Amino acid sequence: MNTKAVLLGLTNLVIASFMFATISHAAAPVPKSAYGVPIPKDKGYVVEEIKDGLYWVTEGAYTAMFLTTGKGVIVVDAPPSFGDKMLKAIGDVTKEPITHVVYSHAHADHIGGASMFPKNATYIAHVETKHRLERMDDSDRHFPYGMFVGGKPVPLPTVTFDDNYTLKLGNQTLQLDYKGDDHEPGNIYVYAPKQKVLLKIDIVFPGWTPFKGLAIAEDTVGYLKAHDVILSYDFDKLVSGHWGKLATRKDVEVQKQYMQDIQANAGKALQSVDFYAIANKVGYANTALLFDTYLDAVTKECAKLTEPKWLNKLGGVDVWTDDHCYKVIMATRVD
Ligand SMILES: [Zn+2]
Repeated sequence: MNTKAVLLGLTNLVIASFMFATISHAAAPVPKSAYGVPIPKDKGYVVEEIKDGLYWVTEGAYTAMFLTTGKGVIVVDAPPSFGDKMLKAIGDVTKEPITHVVYSHAHADHIGGASMFPKNATYIAHVETKHRLERMDDSDRHFPYGMFVGGKPVPLPTVTFDDNYTLKLGNQTLQLDYKGDDHEPGNIYVYAPKQKVLLKIDIVFPGWTPFKGLAIAEDTVGYLKAHDVILSYDFDKLVSGHWGKLATRKDVEVQKQYMQDIQANAGKALQSVDFYAIANKVGYANTALLFDTYLDAVTKECAKLTEPKWLNKLGGVDVWTDDHCYKVIMATRVD
């Protein structure tokens, strides 16, 4: 084979692998109903009053909220992807100063912009969120808190609670509740009873499959249970953290059903995929390879059973159902 033929062969190989990469990344169409509110290009954000002085804000990807009280503004969360848009959104509707900041949980992609708020404001969070944030200053960190999501270190909570905390300010009330571990220890429910609005972040993704791996839930069983806890509140609108829209009770019920299907299909796959048949092929010499091959087969079976029913209902089902299946399979095995 001459040099030209070798080069041609290599070129074909590159083209073939590129085509394969392209094909393997092709995804099913996203249902139109999945998309959030249109974001005006000039402002780059939307601020809307849900009811009685409670506003939600989005830049298209993240969601957060604030309340005017007559005695100062209460802000819940500060996604760094907003930049200073939260300050602008508040300035659009009130001249009241920001006096209280509530952190939903410790993740930098939801609160890593909080250093822009007044230093003398009251910062409220679950005690576990404070513990997590105290790790911001660990000298053995390789990278600063929030660096890869555009955030930076934030004020530590000045008020913490274990189970419940009622924040009353001016004409507004927020009920803060902790109901156990789910997405991250310290992830709280923030409920506005007058407006029937609930904020609970990184559990429900209205119109979409959740973010990869049950939205990186630390406690899979708690994550799945959180759907029922959310529904136990008397709410009309849910601020769920993503993707540029509010969630309704219906969105929560739909995602709960999707999760129930994944759990059922994880069980079916664990029962039907034959570990010993795989071991006979792979052998026992490389334990990592054996378990990886087995768990991969169980994961694929669970995803295959789940996806057809959900492809037309939620965005990204073909992209992330296998990741959810894997987490649920692991939890079904050990939790
Ligand atoms: Zn989070």
